[in-house]
Order: sequence, then structure tokens, then C-alpha cells
Amino acid sequence: MIKADFHTHTTYCDGKHSPREMVEAACQRGFTDLGISGHGLSVGEPGFGMSQADLDQYKQELYTLRQEYAGRIHLYIGIEVDCLGPVQEAEYAIGSTHCVEKDGELIIVDDTEEQLRDGVERLWKGNWYDFARDYFQLEATVYERTGCDWVGHFDLLTKFNEGNRYFDEERDEYLEPALAAMKHLNEAGLPFEINTGAISRGYRTSPYPSKRLLKELCAMGGRIMINSDSHSRENIGFGFSQALKLASDCGFTRITVLKPGGGFREVGLEEFRV
Ligand SMILES: [Zn+2]
Ligand SMILES: [Zn+2]
Repeated sequence: MIKADFHTHTTYCDGKHSPREMVEAACQRGFTDLGISGHGLSVGEPGFGMSQADLDQYKQELYTLRQEYAGRIHLYIGIEVDCLGPVQEAEYAIGSTHCVEKDGELIIVDDTEEQLRDGVERLWKGNWYDFARDYFQLEATVYERTGCDWVGHFDLLTKFNEGNRYFDEERDEYLEPALAAMKHLNEAGLPFEINTGAISRGYRTSPYPSKRLLKELCAMGGRIMINSDSHSRENIGFGFSQALKLASDCGFTRITVLKPGGGFREVGLEEFRV
């Protein structure tokens, strides 16, 4: 059995708790494996994410914690790199697309709803499908740009779209570029994470990616992980029973997890404790 979460943040970026507090909380709650994945630098946002010096210190602190907690938990030292950001390295990298560039401007898709709505109004003349096409065309390049190990929150652009408020996630205009990006990244061999982060933060009622997209991924023979993207110790493993049920409903029978010492392995859904 494994109880694991590989996408979490600490005070080295925008998380609320220190690496030690996160590791301690995970141990107390019976996690066997924890990955910490601080944000790397992104473009156009000075001050956000870890500088190279921060990253060096972060890795050092996590190495020390790994030694200290050996035998209690497997600790993995990762980074969440942005599609447009510089390539920074750790033991593993989650490739995430948080912003899109249009007409020389950078639009962050998951910061505030107002900011995103305003950006789509101005730069895509209010056409959310044109915006989605640009988003997924960029996302399709995340592996080539960053060399990441898996895809973080694939359809992050739906963060504020609960109830299809701005666009219809079932429409071909939306699905066609999304599936093209998914197919490309799946062919590169990358797993996709089911990410519960927006549920814990109250923006969504279901994880990323949407059920529709996950079913397509399953049909493509794709691989999934289950991660919380937690920014505080209380949210490690948040919503994993819902994510596991979603995986099962979409036809998946296995979950991809990190292996101590490097690389991935696959476990059956029934081996993944939530
Ligand atoms: Zn992210
Ligand atoms: Zn994250």
C-alpha cells in the first residue's frame, strides 16, 4: 500500500508551512511518500517562485529532512516549473502552464477571475475559445520547453469556469485543441495529474482535468497521478477519495507514483490509500 502526494508547496514559494512542518504533518497522517514541489521562477513576475539561490537552499534543507525522516517517509525533492519560465532543476519537475503571452502581454490564468476575464476581453476580444486554443497550443509545448516529468493541472484555464460560466467545456471548439495537446503530451510519455488544489481553495467542485478529458486520456492509454497541489499542511492529500473515484469512473485501473531513487512505478487503484 502507498499513501502519497507529490505536488505540494512550502514557505519557499507561496505555501503556508515550512518543509519540516509539511513532512511532519504527512508523517502524522500516515503518508508513506511525500513530494515537495516549490514553484520555479516564471516570466514577468519578479519575486514569484524560487530564485536559483532559494532553490539551492531548498534542496539542501530537503536533503537534510530526507535523512532525518528516513525509515518514516520517502521524501522527494521536486519543482513546479512554469511553461514559459526558465528551466530549473530538481529531482523531478512538474510542468505547469500558468500564463499565456498575447500581444506582448502576459495573462495569468489562475490568479484572479477579474484579471483573467479582463485579459480575455481585451486580448481575445472576449472569445474564450480563441483564448483556450492559445492556452492549449502553449501547453502542448511544456515538455519540449521544460523537460518536465509530468503535466500539472492540465486544464487550469477552467479554474473560474465552474458551471461553464465563461465557455462550454463540452464544445468541439474547446475540446479539439485540448485533446490535441493531450495527445501530444501523452505521446511524449508524460503522466497527467488529477489535481484537487482548486477544490480545497473553494474554486471548483471537481479536480483538474475534467471528467471528459480524463476519459479521453484513458482511451489514449494515458497515465495518471493523484496530487493535491496543497499550499498548507492541512491540505496534503485533500480530496483524494473523490479523485480516486473519478479515476475509476473514467476507466483507469492504475496510478503512477514516484519511486524512491528516481523514476516512476504503477500501482493498482486499490493499493493507493486515501
Ligand atoms: Zn501550478
Ligand atoms: Zn502547484
